Amino acid sequence: AKTNRNSVFSIYRPEMNKNQEEALLIEHHLRKAIEQNELELYYQPKLDLNTKQINGVEALLRWNNYLLGNVPPDKFIPIAEDTGLIIKLDEWVLEKACQQNKEWNDAGFSNPIKMAVNISPLHFRLSHFEDVVKRILDKTGLEPSLLEIEITENSFIDNHEECIACLTKLKDIGISVAIDDFGKGYSSLNYLRKFPINSLKIDRTFIQEVSENNEDIAIVKAITHLARELNLKVVAEGIETKEVIRILEELGCDEIQGYYISKPLPKKRFEESYEQMNYC
Ligand code: C2E
Ligand code: CA
Ligand code: CA
Ligand code: CA
Repeated sequence: AKTNRNSVFSIYRPEMNKNQEEALLIEHHLRKAIEQNELELYYQPKLDLNTKQINGVEALLRWNNYLLGNVPPDKFIPIAEDTGLIIKLDEWVLEKACQQNKEWNDAGFSNPIKMAVNISPLHFRLSHFEDVVKRILDKTGLEPSLLEIEITENSFIDNHEECIACLTKLKDIGISVAIDDFGKGYSSLNYLRKFPINSLKIDRTFIQEVSENNEDIAIVKAITHLARELNLKVVAEGIETKEVIRILEELGCDEIQGYYISKPLPKKRFEESYEQMNYC
């Protein structure tokens, strides 16, 4: 038989280890996930600590494959990044999320919801990510101020100039930019002066034990001060207890997100429980 680049069996070799085998299998199925309709978005709310209202939601990708079952994003996103598949996936997510948010805001939730989408650093290596965003906003009719992108510090590492140019264009259209997993990366704080960003999202490893751990409190406090001085909003993720909320309120954190308020939910369940999410 002819070797087929798309067939996972033709490139299998016995000396491959379990992880490589699994990665190939995932890649093979992931290539077809969009056309086979295997992807779904879950939505996790963000709560504004000043108003105690839900004012945002983050789109999180879910993949259910007929053979592999539910594959968690922490497993398939890195493979999608290694193979370049992430470009198509993130664009699919972006369009779907914008469409959904247009629908929700038109239907008139009690206050406007901003939709946050995770964008892989790879997009900034390709030029013109801003054109992708513009096309999708045009197509879905979503107001730019109702879209936020979440990027990690890694986005800044190799391509400063391009990344600044792109983010500046996005900001000019009215889109917000958040730094995700803030504090977890290894990059210097230098970029904070140069990049047009709106908020810092503190990594959940600093948040989860903040009520028991003095070092974590010190770190969260320092990030909150830094953000305030730089005129950035501070968001904390991974909130699982009331205790942690109280500490974050005291430190002046602006927004919170976590299982305590709600787990990420599929569209229908998000709509059903939206009203009850408003208290904490
Ligand atoms: P992330 O962007 O940091 O998303 C937060 C992760 O923490 C989500 O995991 C969420 O379900 C989980 N989480 C939220 N609240 C809590 C909590 O209170 N406790 C705990 N223990 N966990 C909480 P998820 O959905 O498995 O996503 C994992 C990562 O995969 C995301 O981390 C993000 O980096 C990536 N990802 C997910 N969807 C996309 C996507 O559409 N595009 C890209 N490029 N990456 C995505
Ligand atoms: Ca995120
Ligand atoms: Ca995060
Ligand atoms: Ca992450």
